[in-house]
Amino acid sequence: MNVIYSKNFNIELGLLNYLHPFDGTKFRAIYDALSQKPNIQFVEPLSPVSMEVVDEFLSGVMRHRVRNKNGVLQALEVPRIPFIGFSYLDRKILTPMRWGVAATLLGAESALSHDDIYWNLSGGYHHAMPQNMEGFCIYNDIGICHQQLVKRGLLSAEDKVLIIDTDAHHGNGNAYTFMDNDRVTLLDIYNAGIYPMSSYTRDRVDIPVPLPPGSEGEHYLQKYSEALGKLASDYRLAFVVAGTDVLTSDKLGGLCLTTEDVIEREKLTLQALSDRSIPAVFLGGGGYSSGSADSVIAAISACSELLPSAGSPVQEVLSH
Ligand SMILES: [Zn+2]
Repeated sequence: MNVIYSKNFNIELGLLNYLHPFDGTKFRAIYDALSQKPNIQFVEPLSPVSMEVVDEFLSGVMRHRVRNKNGVLQALEVPRIPFIGFSYLDRKILTPMRWGVAATLLGAESALSHDDIYWNLSGGYHHAMPQNMEGFCIYNDIGICHQQLVKRGLLSAEDKVLIIDTDAHHGNGNAYTFMDNDRVTLLDIYNAGIYPMSSYTRDRVDIPVPLPPGSEGEHYLQKYSEALGKLASDYRLAFVVAGTDVLTSDKLGGLCLTTEDVIEREKLTLQALSDRSIPAVFLGGGGYSSGSADSVIAAISACSELLPSAGSPVQEVLSH
């Protein structure tokens, strides 16, 4: 299993960490645990994605909003903080996220080059879109990545792309980003009783699996398995938003899965992709409980046993 990690993913805010339930340093905890395991090869982006690349994806208004302190704080769902400047936010929060976007780019490029699976511990910002940022998502890494891959000739505009979203929240940003692109298939399994409630973006999902709040693992996995069975096999590339906010301990996701359920979910995803020979990049997505890191560690460990042969080392990194 190829895992993408950079120490620059970690968001370290000291006491300000308590302003949001997201544990910004869980990436390091996951890396530390996985680095002890066999069959896991780490790859690392060399730089964060540039604002020039981000701007190519954003609408004109958003190019200003992503550089505005209050706009960013609102999207991060934290109160306005008078004594913090934009440069602090950029250095402490936004730059780590741009490293996450770079990792998605690296993972997708590597997956395409090596016909393999890559797992970015960060990324999966599925509530961001060209016209908006919300839900702790500033940059839509999948949208930016897709745009860059097409621009650089690594994907054609006609290539079919699959987005599997197993985060507890509906991926409204991806649905909006690809609203008019019928070459992109969306499979989204989510808690139908929580944010975001946009029917406009929910209607865009090709294979929707809306679940009632409180759904447990057995029901989730049964519905998910059925949905995976509907997938075609002619996708050039898949993105998987593997959020761990589906855990019972997660206060935001509103679902009731165990770590064992998450392991089973990721195995199902991996099997569905392997059966169809679809290169893929998994993305971290949401995960706001103390059990999030442990479930990611357990799931990647289990999946690495299904993919014992690590792919070729990635020697080249996209120039951003
Ligand atoms: Zn989520």
